[in-house]
Amino acid sequence: MSTQFEIRGLKSSIEGKEILKGIDLKIQGGEVHAIMGPNGTGKSTLASALMGHPKYEVTEGEVTLNGEDVLEMGVDERARAGLFLAMQYPSEITGVTNSDFLRTAINARRGEGNEISLIKFIRQMEGKMKELEMNPEFMHRYLNEGFSGGEKKRNEILQMMLLEPKLVILDEIDSGLDIDALRIVAEGVNAMRNEDRGFLIITHYQRLLNYVKPDHVHVMMQGRIVKSGGPELAERLEADGYDWVKEELGIVDETVGQA
Ligand code: ADP
Ligand code: MG
Repeated sequence: MSTQFEIRGLKSSIEGKEILKGIDLKIQGGEVHAIMGPNGTGKSTLASALMGHPKYEVTEGEVTLNGEDVLEMGVDERARAGLFLAMQYPSEITGVTNSDFLRTAINARRGEGNEISLIKFIRQMEGKMKELEMNPEFMHRYLNEGFSGGEKKRNEILQMMLLEPKLVILDEIDSGLDIDALRIVAEGVNAMRNEDRGFLIITHYQRLLNYVKPDHVHVMMQGRIVKSGGPELAERLEADGYDWVKEELGIVDETVGQA
């Protein structure tokens, strides 16, 4: 069965303040959905709530991956079920090397008794790093420590490639990337596109979508999806900005605002 990911009426609060005010979204395997929107409209909150970040309380709604209740799962179970988030601001972890981290993550995803052999892991990791034009020394560096913005983003894509998730969420993977790095990251994403995997690409700018063609584009404002369309919607946003959407919908302040 091809992957089916569904969000229904999702509301989420941070420290008692409601940020997500009812999100509905359906992603089928093989599809790329882009969520675009100005800053402070709840895009990263959606990503964090879906991954089960403890700070983001889900107050209403349902999320299912292939019929399974995602909201019932802990963070590790979500990863095992095939959810993956490339974060806008990846954490640095001193004392844990990139390769240790990746192997642990892969084995957690594969489950007990099905661990990847060291040789196979190294071979896969080397292959993917080559595709991403990453220096092999990054294997032995502490996770994200001292990585540049672009190196962190490539490393997130490396994780995605090795973990082979069912639903990939990329949160502003394009920020901080120069044009060469953007192309490499986009090629990495495109190589992972298949019938069994859905993508939710969160981005402020349209430029990534020149390389990774979305099937559906959604605009987020005030913690809601306020407009959806095809790739032409992203092009219009690139050309004209977000003001026309606000005018069309009578929105004065697009951010989630002060509660
Ligand atoms: P976007 O990713 O669209 O720029 P965010 O989801 O990061 O927006 O933020 C939406 C709103 O939620 C903002 O008002 C932001 O200040 C608030 N917010 C997000 N994360 C936190 C947090 N950890 N603590 C407090 N407020 C937060
Ligand atoms: Mg954000």
